[in-house]
Amino acid sequence: MHRVYLDNNASTPVLPEVFEAMKPFYLERFGNASSIHHYGQHARAAVERARASVAALLNARAAEIVLTSGGTESDNLGIFGLVGPGDHVITSTIEHSAVLNTCKRLEQMGCDVTYLPVNGRGEVDPEELRKAIRPATKLISIMMANNETGVLQPVEEIGRIAKEADVFFHTDAVQSAGKVPVDVQKIGCDALSISGHKIHGPQGTGALFVKKGTLIQPLLYGGNHERQRRAGTENLPGIVGLGKAAEISREWLANNGPAEMAALRDYLQNALLRAMNDEGVGVNGEGAPRVPNTTNIYVDHIEGEALVIALDLKGLAVSSGAACSSGAIEPSHVLLAMGMSHQRARGSIRISLGKQTTQEDVDFAIQVVPETVARLREISPVYQKQPVG
Ligand code: PLP
Repeated sequence: MHRVYLDNNASTPVLPEVFEAMKPFYLERFGNASSIHHYGQHARAAVERARASVAALLNARAAEIVLTSGGTESDNLGIFGLVGPGDHVITSTIEHSAVLNTCKRLEQMGCDVTYLPVNGRGEVDPEELRKAIRPATKLISIMMANNETGVLQPVEEIGRIAKEADVFFHTDAVQSAGKVPVDVQKIGCDALSISGHKIHGPQGTGALFVKKGTLIQPLLYGGNHERQRRAGTENLPGIVGLGKAAEISREWLANNGPAEMAALRDYLQNALLRAMNDEGVGVNGEGAPRVPNTTNIYVDHIEGEALVIALDLKGLAVSSGAACSSGAIEPSHVLLAMGMSHQRARGSIRISLGKQTTQEDVDFAIQVVPETVARLREISPVYQKQPVG
């Protein structure tokens, strides 16, 4: 069966160059980076090369990069590591669960957390953020790009506000790194999370940028790895893969990658909207700045989950704006926070492109999505009650 993968915000394939770079570190160059012999020295050099590559992607110094097991750990370290009981934290209602559930835990530990709302396009209002700052505020954690809609937040403005108020600023850049330039100097953040498997690196790898001079409390205790910020023997092949993926991302960003990807995404989005020419179809987050690879489309009178399953049967992998929790399909908290009805949020799908995505892949989606929507609507009792056309 012909299969097309357009769910790159969930995970991206490891690029062949990344895999090739990793291979020797499983087989011949398997040393422990803390050992002093030849094997250890080779491993240490490879880890440090990868760290420098990640730092270059973020315009950071190598010493400011803590290598982790992924976006979730980076978010946990960037948040738990900077606050303690009694502190006030500001985040948003549209964060990934890696931040939201960390903040829920902070509340149980005696922190106060403000969850800022977003507007209809999914944007945080910097003025609301400024107003939410109190004397006890220690940390602001606002994501750079949303994983469901791709909408970008005004992180540079947030960075300025945080600096003025002398508050730490952490941003989850898991969905923006490798898609748009991410520059920690311009953002003015104290901590920033990225994940390897969203940038064509291996799953289970990631990094947290921690600004020089910022003391961070580790989550893991053990050896003196990562300048005592993250104990544990380094995931050598994974780190090498992350470094290679960061290097490829940098080249891609410098060589018009984002504009080309945005053109392909816009072609797909416009073709789908044209083909499903209907009042009940549109783009979530329309009008807001977005990363170039994501489109999130609502299709009224269908269930997003049903559409995802039907598309999968035709060979197209996308995802829905809903999550299955305890057996029930819950509409996305992100789309609800944007003011959408439960019905519309449940009828949304996310299509996300990767660096491997071709014009043919996109054309396949343009062919199968509208025909599948039409078939699902035919059998939908709700849709038949609507005036057709
Ligand atoms: N933050 C965002 C915005 C994400 O999209 C994800 C993954 O979906 C994560 C954090 C978690 O990253 P990881 O899967 O590497 O733990």
